[in-house]
Amino acid sequence: MITVEDIRGVLSKYNKNKLTISTICSHSALQIFHGARSLKFRTLGVTTPDRRFVYEAFPLAKPDIFIEVQGFKDVLRKEVQEKLVEENCVIIPHGSFVEYVGASNILNMLFVPTFGNRTVLLWESDRSKQMEWFREAGLKTPREFKNPSEVDCKVFVKYPGAKGGAGYFTADSAKELEEKIKWTMDKKLIRSIEEVSIQEFVPGVRYYFHFFYSLMLDGGFRVGNGRLELLSMDKRIEPIDEAYRGLPNVPEEFFDYTVTGNQPLILRESLLKDCLDMGARVVLASRRLFPPGIVGPFCLETIYHPSRGFTVFEISARIVAGTNLYPQGSPYTPYLFDEPMSTGKRIALELKKALESDRLEEILY
Ligand code: AMP
Repeated sequence: MITVEDIRGVLSKYNKNKLTISTICSHSALQIFHGARSLKFRTLGVTTPDRRFVYEAFPLAKPDIFIEVQGFKDVLRKEVQEKLVEENCVIIPHGSFVEYVGASNILNMLFVPTFGNRTVLLWESDRSKQMEWFREAGLKTPREFKNPSEVDCKVFVKYPGAKGGAGYFTADSAKELEEKIKWTMDKKLIRSIEEVSIQEFVPGVRYYFHFFYSLMLDGGFRVGNGRLELLSMDKRIEPIDEAYRGLPNVPEEFFDYTVTGNQPLILRESLLKDCLDMGARVVLASRRLFPPGIVGPFCLETIYHPSRGFTVFEISARIVAGTNLYPQGSPYTPYLFDEPMSTGKRIALELKKALESDRLEEILY
């Protein structure tokens, strides 16, 4: 396990005037580099050779320095990490970073300072720990069933570590669920029932809220000793959203929950109080469960129904790809900043403020 003290040791040798914002070239890297560049940070991208041209194709979001690796996991190799340290890099973790490198490898092997509190990865990478976090926060979550025979409503079934919803399915009864689980076991998609998560199917409209918890800025919505900002929101689009196009005989392929893109949206203003309240509860619970708690960007994945309110079904405790919709800010950021503000730039701004006040240690681990 790489400890906070290990990271502080590495950081103490950094040339803080040359702090470099770094990530692997995937997911939200264009946004991260673009935001960092706009605040005059140096940037470094770890890329595979076949992706490099993508980042060169967008000159205003291109990293100043590239490190080429054969696979993203190579970021853990000693010589790559040493190069990142030599360049005074702070790594910004994003969805692909966590997916390719692996939460436990990040916790156990990555000695380069990382933006935010990496302990959060223990909580976000495990569905049952996420639920524990939501319970601690007092949030409404989907009912969960351990045993198919207990099922008394329409259910939504998720595979472990499924990438963006691929293969998820629904069942209308205990009988249908048992049949479908048998089918997935026969196909060797899972080995045992314990591997799937069986949740109540929650009807309603999905909202993905992009929050930022800042320890550096004053004013605004005070939560703990920081400020909680609602930067933007999106809705993920999945083939199931377009199922109506196949009516009246919807082809089976439409019953697919794989995320294929993101759409912008805004929330009815009277619901903002619920949204901000959920964000605040998540931050406060994180401070109790894993002090000093979550730092920086996170996303609450919710379903709203007028008669049920918000149900939270997942959290991403880092920048999410839905923020890529807003490189110049969202319909909410003008109420927080008098300049364009993406989540990528917001991360750079937090680093800049921490540098100016010599408080980097509070936001890196
Ligand atoms: P997830 O991998 O948890 O982000 O879920 C992927 C997609 O599955 C979501 O965007 C929703 O469309 C759907 N989904 C997840 N959980 C539920 C649920 N409990 N009820 C209904 N739909 C869900």
